[in-house]
Amino acid sequence: MALEQYRAKRNFKDSPEPAGDAKLAAARARAAKGAKPRFFCVQKHLASHLHYDLRLEHNGVLLSWAVPKGPALDPATKRLAMMVEDHPIEYGTFEGVIPSGYGAGIVMLWDRGTWTPQVDDVDAALKKGDLKFTLDGYKLKGSWVLVRTKGNWSGGGDRSWLLIKHRDDWAGNVDITDFAPLSVKSNGDFADILAEGSPDIWISQRPAQGGEAGALFQKIIARALEMKGGSKGLLGSKGAKGNRSRAAKGSMKGSKGSVRAKRAAPKRTRRTS
Ligand code: MN
Repeated sequence: MALEQYRAKRNFKDSPEPAGDAKLAAARARAAKGAKPRFFCVQKHLASHLHYDLRLEHNGVLLSWAVPKGPALDPATKRLAMMVEDHPIEYGTFEGVIPSGYGAGIVMLWDRGTWTPQVDDVDAALKKGDLKFTLDGYKLKGSWVLVRTKGNWSGGGDRSWLLIKHRDDWAGNVDITDFAPLSVKSNGDFADILAEGSPDIWISQRPAQGGEAGALFQKIIARALEMKGGSKGLLGSKGAKGNRSRAAKGSMKGSKGSVRAKRAAPKRTRRTS
């Protein structure tokens, strides 16, 4: 159980993220051994940059890689995956808003299911830097590999891996992050998740100011405020005319179309926990 790093980075008084229970971790470590299916998830995380956190259960924790561009179903597309600190098992169902501090932003449970190692010894595969496995999620399926890159690329050293889809029935050219952008937990998008909490927390100071992430935050905050001003609920809320907060005014035009257009999710993503 190596959650020291995870805990050291966070203040659980300010963050809704789980601290992790040692007994649960020990019980899960005993249960998930060898080539049996274990829990996996991918969390779409809009923080200083948008990225996708791939988490694989192993030894009572979630091994974690931050994938800036997200997983690709095309075997020819290798996606950089930076290994980050282990996360607690409980993190696997987390979706919500981290108001401030490490990882401040919005976390969406983008995919979940089970993973099965295609090797007998996961620890040996990790040490070697070549972990083959299958995924059985709502969005990601079939055979994959995580390969550690050699050398000291971008100063990342041992932390740089590549996430690659193997050629099988689940490979293809569809951009899965674009095709299925919504939560498998709430079926919402980032604005829905923010609107469930306090969409006004970042009016003065956003987790990202400039660049793509900053622009995304601006749109999401405006839409969440509009939803909050209108009727409650995740979907179908059109916002209440004349009841928008001041911050939402002026920046709404043009932002609705692009975000709402992506609402046409495939049926299978509607299954929730
Ligand atoms: Mn993250």
